[in-house]
Amino acid sequence: MTGRLLVLSGPSGVGKSSVVDYLRVHHPHIAFSVSVTTRAPRPGEVDGVHYHFIERSEFERMVEAGELLEWAEFAGNLYGTPAAPVREALASGTPVIVEIELQGARQVRTSAPDALQVFLAPPSWDVLVERLQGRGTEAPEVITRRLDTARVELASEGEFDRSVVNDSVPRAAEEIVGLLTG
Ligand code: ADP
Ligand code: 5GP
Repeated sequence: MTGRLLVLSGPSGVGKSSVVDYLRVHHPHIAFSVSVTTRAPRPGEVDGVHYHFIERSEFERMVEAGELLEWAEFAGNLYGTPAAPVREALASGTPVIVEIELQGARQVRTSAPDALQVFLAPPSWDVLVERLQGRGTEAPEVITRRLDTARVELASEGEFDRSVVNDSVPRAAEEIVGLLTG
């Protein structure tokens, strides 16, 4: 039996990485796609765990070679999902979560229509702004750019199969596990 693919999307700062970090610890049977990105690592991010941090030239080579399941430009950087590890995990019956932004989620909707598309929503707009500012990892102009994109991403919630409100990381994460197994 093949594993289920779950796409986790939602605006920057909503808590996607926090939910994924919780799931890695508490639900190790789930496989998590490690994206490639041209963004610089944030403090605490580990190459090969949170992302594969690569040069733009290598990213472009992967696109040309058809090695990415999907890819997108977000806030000035490139992000993509290597296809092979996802295919291998699904073929071995392992459920896979890919945490990606809206344009990528739309591509997966076309290339893998059976994937469950989940939107992680903030409790409110003000909470989203607080979280993005509170993370303290981006310069003010980058935060403004991410919030502009967040408005567009929030408007896309209706495109997704399910919405999960990230009011608490463990609660939201367990709801997502329920969707994956249910
Ligand atoms: P994303 O991956 O969606 O950009 P992060 O996981 O980096 O978001 O979370 C953004 C900030 O919000 C971080 O500082 C994180 O600790 C905080 N955060 C995430 N989820 C919650 C939550 N449920 N309650 C309070 N703070 C949260
Ligand atoms: P961040 O820079 O905050 O880690 O990520 C920025 C955005 O890129 C987030 O919405 C995140 O979900 C998304 N992202 C991370 N990896 C990928 C990927 O492989 N493909 C796409 N399309 N988006 C990604």
